[in-house]
Amino acid sequence: MRLDTKAMRYLTPEDWRTLTAVETGSKNHEVVPTALIGQISGLRGGVHKSISALAKVGLIARLKNASYDGYRLTYGGLDYLSLNTYRKRKDVYSVGNQIGVGKESDIFVVADEKGVQRVLKIHRLGRISFRTVKANRDYLRHRSSGSWMYMSRLAALKEYTFMTALRENGFPVPEPLAQSRHTIVMSLIDAFPMRQISSVPDPASLYAELISMILRLAQYGLIHGDFNEFNILIKEDPNPESNKPEDIILTPILIDFPQMVSIDHINAEYYFDRDVNCIKRFFARRFRYTSDAKGPHFKDARKLIGMDGVKRLDVSVEASGFSKKMAKELEAYMKEVGVDGDGDPNAARGDEDSDEDGEDDEDDDEQHSDGPEAAPKNINGSVIVDEAAGDDVSL
Ligand code: ADP
Ligand code: MG
Repeated sequence: MRLDTKAMRYLTPEDWRTLTAVETGSKNHEVVPTALIGQISGLRGGVHKSISALAKVGLIARLKNASYDGYRLTYGGLDYLSLNTYRKRKDVYSVGNQIGVGKESDIFVVADEKGVQRVLKIHRLGRISFRTVKANRDYLRHRSSGSWMYMSRLAALKEYTFMTALRENGFPVPEPLAQSRHTIVMSLIDAFPMRQISSVPDPASLYAELISMILRLAQYGLIHGDFNEFNILIKEDPNPESNKPEDIILTPILIDFPQMVSIDHINAEYYFDRDVNCIKRFFARRFRYTSDAKGPHFKDARKLIGMDGVKRLDVSVEASGFSKKMAKELEAYMKEVGVDGDGDPNAARGDEDSDEDGEDDEDDDEQHSDGPEAAPKNINGSVIVDEAAGDDVSL
């Protein structure tokens, strides 16, 4: 989805207050009655002018309910509210190119006031899977008012909470910088996903490093749950101990945390094995590397839990704001709409044209990368979009 920030500059303080009132109202109302918007906003002069200004640029949408007229917040409206929060807190000054379009997220390069680039990840749960969601009304009934909004917010909160915990414990992940509603801001990693790397000088050591990252996560009580070549960025730095330019050090950086699970999760073994097998399969196919060592196996990983006195992060995240109840709600929803990647580990993640259905197409993306259609495709639906020409737009 596009993120058109143009209208931000033209919204009056009254418009912002009205937009916030619609957001507040939608916590209890699928369609927020116009009178309630007026009441929540507390604007003495009335909200009609603001309502039409907001509706005109698509930040709210008019809806008719059986008994009354009202408005609901759109994704665009929620985007604006979170960008406005970032603008006020000076987390984001301008918005640049979109670098990723996932099935459940949009990724943009943004910048702070000094021009330092950052990444804005906007979670958009329920965007694609509308029909499935509708078919499962039962589950959503008690959460009917904008469940997409609530679930996207949960995904962002979960990702931010886990990224913070991982970062604090020395894991190679982006630096989490801010979170608002369904979005997070993190540091920009100047690197490509492993998916786009055709060869590495020493596959064995990179493989060992990735497997040890999976085991270190287990030691802290966690399983990534989507540990694959799309969610591992490979940083290339010159080796300080060498003066040969080709002597580079590769550092894997792990991203994408909404589906992380505790090592005590009922399906933990399945997720653990899937993470390990994703790496094994990718290394065999892409780098023609297969480790002599079997495993690692889940039962061995379990023995590492809490070793060396480390904190269990699956437990500590609950204390820092992402509760068990939230985890359950998000997981149920993701399963419902097929985000969670459940099923056969060899199967595609709900999108039929994944690369996993043919053995011979492995190098396709390197060979014809001359257009957006040829962009490498993510198993979970992400496409790296070409950098569009255009300047950053300040908010
Ligand atoms: P999704 O849930 O859609 O898979 P990800 O968090 O995996 O979202 O991000 C999608 C893509 O965006 C990644 O594969 C990567 O190319 C890019 N990306 C995400 N976060 C960063 C970051 N912090 N720095 C650089 N690139 C990033
Ligand atoms: Mg991803």
